[in-house]
Amino acid sequence: MIGAGVVGFSMAWHLQGLGHQVTLIAPELEQEQGELSGSQAALGLLMAQVYRRSSGRGWRLRQQSLALWQRWRQELEQRGHAIPARAGLLQLATTAEEVEAQERLCIQRQEQGFPLRLLSAAELAELRPTLPQPSLGGLVSPLDGQIDPGPALEAFRRDGLQRGLNLISSRVMGLQRGSGQGDQRWQLDLEGGATASAAWVVVCAGLSSPALLATVGHQRPQSPVLGQAAELQLHPDDHRALNWPGSLSWDGINLVPRPNGRLWLGATLEPDRSSPQRGGLDDAALQELLTLNGHAPAWLKRCELVRHWHGLRARPSGRPAPLLELLEPGLLLASGHYRNGVLLAPASAHWAGEQIAAAEPGAQL
Ligand SMILES: Cc1cc2nc3c(=O)[nH]c(=O)nc-3n(C[C@H](O)[C@H](O)[C@H](O)COP(=O)(O)OP(=O)(O)OC[C@H]3O[C@@H](n4cnc5c(N)ncnc54)[C@H](O)[C@@H]3O)c2cc1C
Repeated sequence: MIGAGVVGFSMAWHLQGLGHQVTLIAPELEQEQGELSGSQAALGLLMAQVYRRSSGRGWRLRQQSLALWQRWRQELEQRGHAIPARAGLLQLATTAEEVEAQERLCIQRQEQGFPLRLLSAAELAELRPTLPQPSLGGLVSPLDGQIDPGPALEAFRRDGLQRGLNLISSRVMGLQRGSGQGDQRWQLDLEGGATASAAWVVVCAGLSSPALLATVGHQRPQSPVLGQAAELQLHPDDHRALNWPGSLSWDGINLVPRPNGRLWLGATLEPDRSSPQRGGLDDAALQELLTLNGHAPAWLKRCELVRHWHGLRARPSGRPAPLLELLEPGLLLASGHYRNGVLLAPASAHWAGEQIAAAEPGAQL
């Protein structure tokens, strides 16, 4: 398994549970907490039942993931590795068209048996702290919600280690196919000249996946989309009054209530300018986020900025996210999860397990 983001760690854990012996390779594994990968930066929102489509691969992966997260969290908690999570999501409509779309989606979901419901204007007006304006309509999804990505990674790591997960703290520089008859294993060239080998390799290296695949002739380009996010401290009065039915989604911005009167706000969608060579982070984009593009309610203006951070999302070029592919015997790609890697990690892991089982029961990776 190459990559120790939420996709790699959750997949390793799931495959171990299926009885595979798994080695996970990533450069940051020697530290207790990894460097800021996409997964460490994520807000952890799980938007499955509010997804605008009702069929197709994206829909199926989201529903499967939401169910698996619930099951996995229970299993991990029983094994002593709780992952904090908060149920509920309120999607707000800022235009008349969005209100109509919400009404249609709500009817559709209720017909499918999902517990979504529209909030009336009076119900929206009762929410505290007050909603950003305009908020012309609101769709509540009680089973969508949010999980904390950092503790999730840590839970997979700790439980994985207890189950015998092998960690190698290194960077994979390239892949090589086994040379044929009697040597079907993949060879991985590691930084510093070391090598590793495995019958199956899963590439979960986020934005580095295309370069790794190119070493064996596969072209799967992805582009980086930067996201900035912030943690705010609410005024104690505003925190005490909070009665939102979960996290909020307003005009593409997510507001996630946190313990101890804190709030996560995010995330921007920007071209990657994070390195000094590219001009550095865009302060204007952060300010737009912090002021909700000039629509910040009074309580938001009273908040104290505790910290802000950024991360990169891997967006596939010319193909829908995520990239889940059996590229050739023994080589799987699970990458390009773009804005939904936390949500889609369990379904991606499940997919990998099925691929391996179909090809070769008893395989090791
Ligand atoms: C600000 C922000 C907010 C987000 N919010 C959400 C959200 O609310 N909900 C949601 O579902 N998603 C969200 N996302 C998206 C989500 O974070 C990503 O889709 C997800 O983290 C992708 O996980 P990953 O494991 O594929 O990649 P990453 O987390 O990027 O991990 C890649 C791993 O590969 C390793 N690696 C790289 N190169 C090599 C190499 N050569 N050899 C070995 N290892 C290598 C890295 O060290 C790392 O361990 C957000 C993203 C950002 C940036």
